Amino acid sequence: VIDVQVDWSYRRDERGQVQGFIAIMTDITERNQMQEALREQAIHDALTGLFNRRYLDETLPRELHRCQRGGEPLTAAMLDLDHFKQFNDHYGHEAGDVVLQAVGQLLRRSLRASDMACRYGGEELTVVMPGSSLEDAQARLEGLRQTVMQMRLRCRDVELPAITVSIGIVTAKSEETDPTALLGRADAALYRAKAQGRNQIVAIQTQ
Ligand code: GH3
Ligand code: MG
Ligand code: MG
Repeated sequence: VIDVQVDWSYRRDERGQVQGFIAIMTDITERNQMQEALREQAIHDALTGLFNRRYLDETLPRELHRCQRGGEPLTAAMLDLDHFKQFNDHYGHEAGDVVLQAVGQLLRRSLRASDMACRYGGEELTVVMPGSSLEDAQARLEGLRQTVMQMRLRCRDVELPAITVSIGIVTAKSEETDPTALLGRADAALYRAKAQGRNQIVAIQTQ
């Protein structure tokens, strides 16, 4: 199957009557594929393969509105790798990148099609789960937390130590459409998970 663009041009006499036409067909398959690849690049983070922050900023308000309209819950989680600066200092930036890639891949594999996982920045990730209750999201992210802890990674033949992740989870309030407030609460929950000892989830039920 190829994509074709057809351009018509008409030949007319002095009174404007159509006397004939020429149709030029151009194979634009490659152009379309290139545009699609560019769009994919523009919304993804190259290292982790997750969506990037720009995509989150673009999509989250829309998802919030959609869930509010449909009376569905929406849960948002902030994830942050624990003591990752220390990890980088000990094992090198390249090893840190291996970890980020592995966590990204794990997230992409373990989430639902409707979930959206983004690299919010550095070693902070955001997961938006439209249609998920707090309990449901917590159960799934708890599985993820444990899997992260059990990952055994290598970088240049060096076995890397286990890494852990802290997670804050919150749900959207009814009528809430401001993504900044929602992510702010997720960040506050994450902060509590860090303060309470890391490698854990703090889930805050909002009324
Ligand atoms: P905490 O448990 O409190 O989160 O401690 P932390 O050390 O993880 O927190 P901090 O924010 O101080 O450090 C984050 C580190 O993440 C700093 C930086 O070296 C590392 N980092 C951020 N982005 C990347 C990246 O793309 N690759 C690598 N290898 N490291 C990154
Ligand atoms: Mg960290
Ligand atoms: Mg951080």
